[in-house]
Amino acid sequence: MASIELKNVTKTFDKHNVIENLNLTIEDGKFTVLVGPSGCGKTTLLRMIAGLDPQTSGSVLIDGKDVSQTAPGKRGLAMVFQNYAIYPTMSVRDNIEFGLRNNGVPKAQRTELVESISETVGLKDYLDRKPSTLSGGQRQRVALARAMVKKPGVFLMDEPLSNLDAKLRVQMRIELIELHKKLGSTFVYVTHDQVEAMSMADKIVLMNKGEIQQEAPPAVMYRKPSNQFTAQFIGVPPMNIGSMANANAQFGFRPESAVLSTAPVEEAFKSKGRIITREMLGSETIYQIKNDTHTFMMKSTNDQYDAGQEVYYGVAEKHLHFFDQNEKRYDDTGSEHQQLLEKLRGLSRA
Ligand code: ATP
Repeated sequence: MASIELKNVTKTFDKHNVIENLNLTIEDGKFTVLVGPSGCGKTTLLRMIAGLDPQTSGSVLIDGKDVSQTAPGKRGLAMVFQNYAIYPTMSVRDNIEFGLRNNGVPKAQRTELVESISETVGLKDYLDRKPSTLSGGQRQRVALARAMVKKPGVFLMDEPLSNLDAKLRVQMRIELIELHKKLGSTFVYVTHDQVEAMSMADKIVLMNKGEIQQEAPPAVMYRKPSNQFTAQFIGVPPMNIGSMANANAQFGFRPESAVLSTAPVEEAFKSKGRIITREMLGSETIYQIKNDTHTFMMKSTNDQYDAGQEVYYGVAEKHLHFFDQNEKRYDDTGSEHQQLLEKLRGLSRA
C-alpha cells in the first residue's frame, strides 16, 4: 500500500504547460478517480505518477519518498490501460504468470499465486483458454490479474473499461469496487465518464484545463460543488444555471430538484414555462422547459406532461445554489447565500 504526492508539478509539451504547479495528495488505500473532459491532463498526470512520462518540474513522492529519478518498474506500481496488453498466443495462465517468470519467481510459488489471483478475479475456470476465446470483460480481468500478480501497492488505471459495452461496464465497475475492497491497495483511476467516477470513487479529483477544480467524495461533489464547472460536469443532465436580474450572481438547481405541477407551486424559486421536449427514460422523464428568460432541464418521476404543455415549476430553498461572478459557489450557510435566496424569492414573486 502506498500514498502518492505530487508537489508543484508542471508538465510541458512543446513549450506549452499542460499542467502547471499542480499539488495533489492521493491517500493510501483509497479509490481515487481522476475525471475531467478530454484533453484536461488526466492521462498526463497518471503517466507522471507511473514515471512513463516524467514531469518537467516539481516532484512525485510515493510513500513519502521522492521517486522523480526512479524508473517506472521500480516504483511499486502496476498499470492497466484501456488497450490491455495481453498476449494472444499465450493461455490465460501464461499471461498472468508472465511477469512472475521474468522475475525468477519459483514454479510452485507462481502456481499458487496464479491460482489465488485467478480466483479473486473470477478466471479460475478459464486458465487454459486463449484470450481470443474470452469476452471483453474476461480479457480485461486477465489484464487486471496480470497487474495484481505483482502485488503492487498502487494500481494505476487509464480508462480500463472504455472498450466494453454498457452492460459489461456496469458489471466491471462493481467488480473493481469489490476488488479494491479485497486488496486494500491504492487505486488511481482515470476516466472522462462522471458516472464511473461517481459510482466507484472514494474521492473524485475533477480536472479542467490542467487544473484541479475540486477534490471530494462523490456525495460532496454532487451536493456542494465548489464552482459552476463542477456543478455542471457532475450530474446528468447538468445543473441548471440561471441569471438573476440586478444581481452579480447566478442561481442553480439540479434537474431532479424541481417540482412540476399544472397548478401554481409555492417554492422559494417558482415560475411557469412551456415543455419544449420530453424524454421518457423509463423510471424518469426529462423535460426541457422554456420561459421568457431561461430554458431549464427538469427530471421527474411523473411522465404525465406532454410536449407543448404549459406547466408551473418550483425549487425548494434547500435545493438552490448560488454562484458569484467568478462562478464560485457561495457556501449555503453563509450570509451571501441567504441574501441571494431572499432576492430570488422576491424575483419569483414578482
Ligand atoms: P482524454 O480523456 O482525451 O484521454 P486527458 O485528460 O487524458 O484526455 P491528456 O492525454 O493528459 O488528456 O492530454 C492533455 C493535453 O496534453 C492535451 O492537450 C494533449 O494534446 C497534450 N498532450 C498529451 N500528450 C502529448 C504529447 N506527447 N505531446 C504533445 N502534447 C501532448
